This record gives sequence, structure tokens and C-alpha cells, in this order.
Amino acid sequence: MQNTNSGKKPMGRLLKAAIWVVSVIVIIVMTAAVFQKQILTAVATKIIQQRLLSQAHKKDDGLHVGLAGTGAPFPDINRVGPCIVVEAGKHLYIIDAGPGSARNIGLMGFDIGKVDAILLTHFHSDHIAELGEMMLQRWAGGSNAKPVDVIGPKGVETVVEGFNHAYSLDARYRVAFHGAATVPPSGAGGRARPFGLSSEEDASVVVVDKEGVKITAFKVNHYPAYPAVGYRVDYKGRSLVVSGDTLPCQSLKKQSQGVDVLFHEAQQPSLIKMIHAQAGLSPSPSLAKITADIPGYHTAPEDAAKIAGEASVKHLVLYHILPPLPPVLNNMFLGNAAKYYNGPITVGVDGLLISLPANSDKISIKQVLK
Ligand SMILES: [Zn+2]
Ligand SMILES: [Zn+2]
Repeated sequence: MQNTNSGKKPMGRLLKAAIWVVSVIVIIVMTAAVFQKQILTAVATKIIQQRLLSQAHKKDDGLHVGLAGTGAPFPDINRVGPCIVVEAGKHLYIIDAGPGSARNIGLMGFDIGKVDAILLTHFHSDHIAELGEMMLQRWAGGSNAKPVDVIGPKGVETVVEGFNHAYSLDARYRVAFHGAATVPPSGAGGRARPFGLSSEEDASVVVVDKEGVKITAFKVNHYPAYPAVGYRVDYKGRSLVVSGDTLPCQSLKKQSQGVDVLFHEAQQPSLIKMIHAQAGLSPSPSLAKITADIPGYHTAPEDAAKIAGEASVKHLVLYHILPPLPPVLNNMFLGNAAKYYNGPITVGVDGLLISLPANSDKISIKQVLK
């Protein structure tokens, strides 16, 4: 009898607890149903505020680098086309306009309406395809009365002229709809700012020198895309180099001496060979040819690591990643890179924000897209 009674009491308590939990859930569900509209409105308002506030978010003085695009032409779920945003003090620059990257720039909290200039490394489509959208957003987003400067090696005039022409009808529609005060007609599109380089293999030229921000363009080797360049940015004791597309290259190593971060393109040949083997089975002969050609004008992670080691850079970030791989396979992508460089190596993925506070040696990295 005692056993039977002691079995009933816990059952009774369990039943009471269950009824209490169910009652609470029912009240919550009913309340949510009654106030559904108010709750959804509050959530939507919060999200919109967060988006707008992130645009206005003030960062500490220094260099802040946003990886808005870290991919290559092959489709990649984690990466759009190559695009690196550099905020230096009050100034904002975009290096390369990979397809899909303009949206990431906004999502990462950079105010595209305040861009000082867009710098192009060369004119392969995966580096220029987003130029029209960037120029449009910079114009409309900032009510700018002057076109944005598009800086690049000779040939940039042709690229900018083409995008300006393609977007000229859109500009007319927007002025007619929003009014010239909001979108001044004089600010639509871009203004090409070509620079020359001497014939030396390590030729370089300063293309921006403004309020402590110095940007130097230097030749790299991406033949037959010629001239192709990388960029070095210096600001208040901090420095970085963006390689653009290139084979391993002496002028890049020279420019990278002692920089805080080297952003170097990287393609893993052993994995591209695997794609090539599969491409050989596909009915498209062009894929097999292209995958065989790719290593001929790009850099393996191991070679990027050698350059980083020889140039004593403090942190190596790989971007323009090929083949497209999920982060879980980063070690496979890196191969033997760690043999050649003792410092930290980050395999780039869209949304990384790398911050270099002014006059310090701190480097912080965080993901701001997810
Ligand atoms: Zn290229
Ligand atoms: Zn490329």
C-alpha cells in the first residue's frame, strides 16, 4: 500500500506541473496572437534601426578593412567576387568591384554614400562587374554632386565610360522621380582617374595622398592583363597590401616589407587539378581548358605564405579563394603554407572586419555579416 501511495504523489505533482506549463504556453500564444501586429512592428523597427545605426557606427581611428568579397569567378556560397573596403580615418576606399559585393558593403555597416574613390587592380570581369551598382549607390546614397573617382591603370577610362553609358538611362529615371536635390544629376556615375607606371617591373606610383592616407599602386604580374597592380595603404603607423591578381611577384614582396596585413590572392593548384580532372569528364571543353590555365597567372597559398615570411608581414589574409570550399576544408586549401610562414594565416570569407587601431600593433578580426 505504501508503495502505491508514494507512486501516486509524484504523478500528481507531475500532472499539476504539466497543466501549469501548458497554461503558461496557452497564455503566451494567445497574447502573441492578440498583439501579433504590435510585436512584428517592434521587431521590424528594431531590425531597421540596427541596419541604419550600423551605417552610422563610429569606429576608432585607424585602418578598418572589410572583406566584402573574397571569391573568384567560380560560384561560392560563402564568397562573392573580390572586393576589399578600406576605411582610413574619415576616408573610405573600395578596392575592386567583384560581382555581388556592393550589398555586402552596406550589410557590413560601411556607408557607400561616403566613398572617396574606387580603386581597380585590373579589368577582368570578376574585378569590375559591380562598378555600376557601386557608382549608383554612392551617388544616390550620399546625394553626391560629383561623380566618384575610379582610380586604375590605363584602360580604366574605357571601363568607366562603358558603365556610365549603361547606367545613363537609370540616372535619368531617378532624377525625374526623386528630384535633383536628392540625386543631383551632376553626381551620377564615375570619373576615371588613370595613372601611368614606368617600364620597370617594380614600378610604383602614389595615387592617393590625403590627410595622412597614402595609397601606392605597384605593378604585379597577371599577364596578359597588363598593367595589373596591387595597392599598399599607409595610415597613422599602420599598413596593408592588397595583391590583386598575380603570380608570385618581387614588387609585391618589396611593397609588403613589414606591413601589418598582407591580403594576398590564393588558388590551391592541387585542388584545381581535381576540378580539372572532373572537368575532363564534362561535355564542355572550355571548362577543362580554363581549369588547366588558371594556375598560370595566380598564386598558391604556399607561395603567398613564402612571400609573407620573406617580407616579415604580421598577418596573412588569403582572398580570391579558388576553388570554392567551405571553411571546414581550410587546412586542405592551405596545404603546406604553415611551413613557410610562422605568423597567423586567415583564409578569407565574406564579412570579416579587420581593424588596425592607429599607432598601435593591435590587429583584431571579427565576422560582421552573420
Ligand atoms: Zn584577373
Ligand atoms: Zn580575379
